[in-house]
Amino acid sequence: MTRMNYRTDTVCIHGQGSREAIETTGAISFPIYQTAAYAHPGVGRSTGYDYNRVQNPTRKEAERIVTDLEHGVDTISFATGMAAVSAFMELFAPGDHVVATDDLYGGVIRQFRNVNEKNGMEFTYVDTSDLSAVEAAVRENTKLLYIETPTNPMMQVTDIRAVSEIAKKHGCLLAVDNTFLTPYFQNPLDLGADVVIHSATKYLEGHNDTLGGFIVAGNEEIAERMRQMVKTTGACLAPFDAWLILRGMKTLSVRMEKHQENALAIARWLTGQPKVRGVFYSGLPDHPGYAVAQRQCRGYGGMLTFHVDSQETAHRVLERVKLIKFAESLGGTESLMTYPFTQTHADVPDEKRRANGIDETTLRMSVGIENVEDLIADLAQALA
Ligand SMILES: *Cc1c(COP(=O)(O)O)cnc(C)c1O
Repeated sequence: MTRMNYRTDTVCIHGQGSREAIETTGAISFPIYQTAAYAHPGVGRSTGYDYNRVQNPTRKEAERIVTDLEHGVDTISFATGMAAVSAFMELFAPGDHVVATDDLYGGVIRQFRNVNEKNGMEFTYVDTSDLSAVEAAVRENTKLLYIETPTNPMMQVTDIRAVSEIAKKHGCLLAVDNTFLTPYFQNPLDLGADVVIHSATKYLEGHNDTLGGFIVAGNEEIAERMRQMVKTTGACLAPFDAWLILRGMKTLSVRMEKHQENALAIARWLTGQPKVRGVFYSGLPDHPGYAVAQRQCRGYGGMLTFHVDSQETAHRVLERVKLIKFAESLGGTESLMTYPFTQTHADVPDEKRRANGIDETTLRMSVGIENVEDLIADLAQALA
């Protein structure tokens, strides 16, 4: 198949080549192959499709687009982002040590603590935006550096290339969760990462209506091991969900531009509000990660976090917002606001939460693609 050299907004729709020849009708929208099994043409023969846990054309088409968007070797899809993370962690063994960002998605922290630690793995959490802290945390048995950048919810930015050099020096893998910026704004594999992780539930699918996850492999060995893992552990992506993600990705470029435009306008507006105490958005020049973000990303995304003057104000805002919904999750067309203290980060030990800057006054917003004046008016009435 001829590989093209399309730009990212074209790749979101077509990938870099043509779809698999299995689809011969010319249907513009890729069909949903809603089947559990496939008939064999003869004894010892296969169409290449045997059983839906292992192969599905719709899923394969979504994986092809994600691989091309992330400049990877292959992509393996999962029922949810957490299914992707937990299957990926199965590549490691008892006694292996991991250095991870200390401001991770709450569910990933829960996976590490409740599953991987129980099974004998060891974890050290550091502020990975501080390279000397990363270097100091690496041990003899460190097998993986696991980062999110920007982080959730405090939007800290880690220098992916610099961390990849530390990983290479010590012979460990670097995995980057790219859920927040998506391949439209950031390509970790180009910066030296070995694996990219996605909760496709968020921006890739983009409409707050399904769950999915991807592991994008930077080399064949990881790809092969992950294929074996999904075949074995079974949390594969359903055909209809794969189709929803395929459809969502077609508009990734226009959505990401609008998410970002709205987020920047809201971040600037919040900065001037009397009841707002701090605004964390890596697209603001006074954000500590701004310089690194400018260097390694093509944009800053649609997530922002802010502190208000008291717990009462925070609760009032959450109860008063109308257009903006008080809900978990992120990355969809609808603007959502969460309260990390009691929601996404409820399981993080209190001392750790506070050290990371998450307290009763912290609000996180996933800025949607509504009209920004309507969003600002909603925030203004909620803060009044
Ligand atoms: C949501 C999320 C996950 C988990 O994905 P699910 O699809 O909810 O299982 C992992 N990492 C990040 C950064 C997320 O935002």
